[in-house]
Amino acid sequence: MHVADRLMKIKSAGRFLADGATSLFFPPICLGCRRIVAAGGTLCGSCWGEVHFLEQPWCAVSGVPFVMDMGEGAISPAVMASPPAYDRSRAAVAYDGAARRLAQSLKYQDRTDLAPWLARWMARAGREILADADMLVPVPLHRQRFLTRRFNQSAELARAVARISGVAFVPEAAIRIKKTVPQVGLKSKEREDNVRAAFKVPDRAAERVRDQHVCIVDDVYTTGATVAALATCLRKAGAREISVLTFARVLPGDFRRERPAPI
Ligand SMILES: [Zn+2]
Repeated sequence: MHVADRLMKIKSAGRFLADGATSLFFPPICLGCRRIVAAGGTLCGSCWGEVHFLEQPWCAVSGVPFVMDMGEGAISPAVMASPPAYDRSRAAVAYDGAARRLAQSLKYQDRTDLAPWLARWMARAGREILADADMLVPVPLHRQRFLTRRFNQSAELARAVARISGVAFVPEAAIRIKKTVPQVGLKSKEREDNVRAAFKVPDRAAERVRDQHVCIVDDVYTTGATVAALATCLRKAGAREISVLTFARVLPGDFRRERPAPI
C-alpha cells in the first residue's frame, strides 16, 4: 500500500471516530432554536409550525403566492405596475418566525453550518430556475466588509445550492465597487439610492456572463433594491436571462392580512 493511501485510510478512520464522537457528545439540536431533536439538520415541532413555505399558486415573475389560483403564468398587479429588473424571482420561505432566526444566525452569528440546510429549501423553491440556469452568482460584499465579517452569507448559500443542483458557482462574475451602508432601517427609496451603481462585472468576467442565464443568490429579499441593482449591471454586461433565488422574502403586508382564516 502506498504511503498516501495509508494516510488516507488513517484520515478517514479518524473522521469516522470524530463523527461518532460528535453525535455521542453533542445530540442533534433544532436548527431554529437549539432544542434537542431526533435527527440533525431538522427543526423542532414548534419551529416547523412557524415556517411559512412559499408555495404555488404564485406570481410567475415575483414568486409571491396568490391568495387564490389565477391560472398558469399569472402575474401579480404589483409586478405589472412596476416590472422588476430581472426576469423571475423565487424564495423558499417568508421572512418571519423561525426562518427569520435562521437567516439572522447565518448572517450575524457565523452559523455557516446552516447554509446546506437552507440551500435545500432554496433548491426546491427554485427548481424551475435551476433546471435552466447557467450559473449562480452571489450578491457580493465590498472587500472591506468581507475582511471584517470573514464570510459572505450569500456566497455560502450559492455554493451550497450549486452543490445540490450542479449549476456552476461563479462568485467572480460581479464585484461590489461602492461601499454601501447596511440596508437595515432604510426606506424603499433610500435603499435604491444606496445600492445604485454599487456593482460591476469585471472585464475578465464579461465573456463568462454574456448570453447566459444568470441566477443571483441572496439570503433575504426585502425590497429587492439590491438584487435589482445587480441585475441591471449583469444585464448591461450582456446576460440573456436573470433570475433571483433567495432563502427568505419579506412579503407585502397585505398578503398576510388577506390569507383566508382556517375553517
Ligand atoms: Zn426549534
